[in-house]
Amino acid sequence: MDGTTSTGPAPPEAPLPPAAEGTPLYVHLPFCAAKCHYCDFFSVPDEGHDLEGMVAAILREAEGRAPRRPRTLFLGGGTPSLLPIPLLRRLLDGLHELTGWRDSVEEATAECNPESLDRDKARAFVDLGVPRLSVGVQALDDQALALFGRVHTADDSLRALEAAREGGVEALNADLIYAWPGQTLEAWGRDLHSILGFSTEHLSAYNLTYEEDTRFKRWLDRGDLHQAPEELELALFDAVRSAAVGAGLGAYEISNYSLNDQESRHNLNYWRAGDYVGLGPGAVSKVGSVRAGAPRGIAPYLRWIESSGHATAWRDAPSARTRLAEAWWLGLRLAEGLSAEEALERAGWDPLSADEDPAAPVVEELLELGMLERSGERLRLSAQGLPVADAVAGRFLRELSEADGPAAEAPAG
Ligand code: SF4
Repeated sequence: MDGTTSTGPAPPEAPLPPAAEGTPLYVHLPFCAAKCHYCDFFSVPDEGHDLEGMVAAILREAEGRAPRRPRTLFLGGGTPSLLPIPLLRRLLDGLHELTGWRDSVEEATAECNPESLDRDKARAFVDLGVPRLSVGVQALDDQALALFGRVHTADDSLRALEAAREGGVEALNADLIYAWPGQTLEAWGRDLHSILGFSTEHLSAYNLTYEEDTRFKRWLDRGDLHQAPEELELALFDAVRSAAVGAGLGAYEISNYSLNDQESRHNLNYWRAGDYVGLGPGAVSKVGSVRAGAPRGIAPYLRWIESSGHATAWRDAPSARTRLAEAWWLGLRLAEGLSAEEALERAGWDPLSADEDPAAPVVEELLELGMLERSGERLRLSAQGLPVADAVAGRFLRELSEADGPAAEAPAG
């Protein structure tokens, strides 16, 4: 199913203007071995799909849209490790010819899943210029993995992490999900102990969310699944934080931990509201204050790339106040926090000519409530605000963007 009803020969929107040299590049490979029951990323089971045709289309899109000399490259999805090695080579060599990424990136990452990552695949990624792999472990409990709809076991994940090391991977991330139905604090502690035993340079641990249009959400609404109680969620969050920090990983973002200098630079750019270019179906790009995205559908993507060389299904120019709310929302996820001036700049405002900062009353209120703390000019989530970051972020979005009209613009800059 391609998930879209548009059938026109050309994409409905014009592509974004070209991004500046150095802009981070994201490539979305939309195929997976199977669809996980909680997942709302754009991805489809690979069976019956033309992987070569998809790589050719992404390279065609890159001809017109990829930035020269990107600072970071991220292959995400979907499951990039599903591609056979010759196809990975075609994609990565082709992108290099078009952008020169191998001579410019500070970091190149690929997302992998255990069922499609062995030593040869890991070695191929490294040899092709991608020494950083992020492995979707998700849980080390086979019953939970079956509930998730994952096609691998806990042992497969451990084997994949070993294979990555044997293949010469320099920086390894393990992706985990917590607060799934039936999870206990004790079991989470054991899983963390096993994963941290691999001394991965990076760990991501996301609280399970029940996204619209997923099986998990339908099962939850029907009463077939039960959300973890809030106290347990908080205890699981505390447990991963203290285990990661105890293992020498810094808690640099709400859900992400890393050794010094091994933070995900690609994602830091996103949290700091930087520009980025996304290629592939469902991928989103941001250039300046405008965002645009490709269709969440294989067929329209391929058709539009063939007809026009781009597949811009939608464009969105959030108002200045919304951009400011988003700068706070994203920036507060980071342990480094942000200053009011940085938030204004990231949102495209000129802090010197802004008469007043519309976010200031929200910041003051959150400081009074003890959700934020100040260190010099910088503001960050307090210990009290950290576990309820989404609610804090929601405050900025509610106060700033909802009262805003779409025509509102930044006063300068
Ligand atoms: S492997 Fe990842 S992208 Fe694919 S369906 Fe599962 S969670 Fe989604």
